Amino acid sequence: MVFTTESLSDAHRRKWGGSSADVKVYRAPGRVNLMGEHTDYTEGFVLPIALDLACYVTRSKNASGELRVVSENNGQERRWPTSALPVVQPMHDWSDYIVGIAKELFRAGYPVEPANLRVHSTVPIGAGLSSSAAIEVATALALLDGRSIPDIELIQLCRRAENRFVGMPCGVMDQYVCVKAGAGSMLEIDCRTLESHAAPWPEEVAILAVNSMVRHELGQGAYRTRVAECAEARDLLGVRALRDATLDQADTLHGELRRRTRHIVSENARVHDFLAAGSPAERGELFYASHASLRDDYAVSCPELDSLVEIARGIEGVYGARMTGGGFGGCTVNLVDPAAIPEFEAKVRQDYLAAYGVVPGIYRCMPSAGAARQV
Ligand code: ADP
Ligand code: MG
Repeated sequence: MVFTTESLSDAHRRKWGGSSADVKVYRAPGRVNLMGEHTDYTEGFVLPIALDLACYVTRSKNASGELRVVSENNGQERRWPTSALPVVQPMHDWSDYIVGIAKELFRAGYPVEPANLRVHSTVPIGAGLSSSAAIEVATALALLDGRSIPDIELIQLCRRAENRFVGMPCGVMDQYVCVKAGAGSMLEIDCRTLESHAAPWPEEVAILAVNSMVRHELGQGAYRTRVAECAEARDLLGVRALRDATLDQADTLHGELRRRTRHIVSENARVHDFLAAGSPAERGELFYASHASLRDDYAVSCPELDSLVEIARGIEGVYGARMTGGGFGGCTVNLVDPAAIPEFEAKVRQDYLAAYGVVPGIYRCMPSAGAARQV
């Protein structure tokens, strides 16, 4: 679903008043990662696309001295005197994303002016499609309100807000692709140099995300544990980051650290193999290999995601499937022959419902452009 500027502006004015000339609309997309899972925080390679699902933040000025924000997604409203924003403490809820961005903007020399914001996201929230980076980047653009900022600074600032204030030790992928993606292409990002290049997505293959509709409590703790395990393996191997390790080096480690390192090394290689692959079938095989690695070596999958991958594997016209995002729930990403989409949707719904009693969300993903003001 894509909102028009006019409908967003009308909804904003119903909430906050003012005239349509006062309202500006900012859009920042969610993303789905095609290859390179959990590699960004080891200075590795990732290959996401931005989605047509996005977070829209509308903005108008106010004379109250406050930053006021309402989220259409949860119906909640918050307000703070702008002068107090630098000292607000985390509330451990959605408002931390807004305040975290405001604080980082102050710190970077872009003071936040009093404003009314309305947030409305079409990215499913907490499903591994990065509603978090979408709300961060859209909020940052709305608070900057036309003040220019280099892309890399915006990306790093949003990541710092999530790392420091929300308390999630995420890598740079989500904010990066949200800002820099191009329509119709995937973005290969080198998370060490922060350089990227776009590669066109072949139109003959459809990308579908399937939402398992589960979100395990395990997720956040396990993410933190994986980040720590990668740091430990790095120190034992004496490399700058696990991106620099080899499979032979991984085999000198033991137990879990060996398996974790094997995933990071093989997954980085799969990013390059995916870009070099000549056919949808080859790309699909890399998807299945990535899923097996995330399930067995990295241990971030769950029965629901494994089941969605196995259901997809049995459908004619499916090239490949894998979990995507942090894991322990959220989405799989599937490469499908467009002619097979109706069959895919029907079978995935039916079999997943039979197995777990839940109807999965299914989203056709169109590689879309990065964040911008929407006029
Ligand atoms: P993901 O990024 O995979 O969607 P996260 O756990 O990283 O999952 O981020 C989800 C959190 O981001 C939500 O719990 C909520 O706090 C916040 N969030 C994202 N979008 C919105 C929104 N439109 N309104 C309010 N909060 C949001
Ligand atoms: Mg997130």
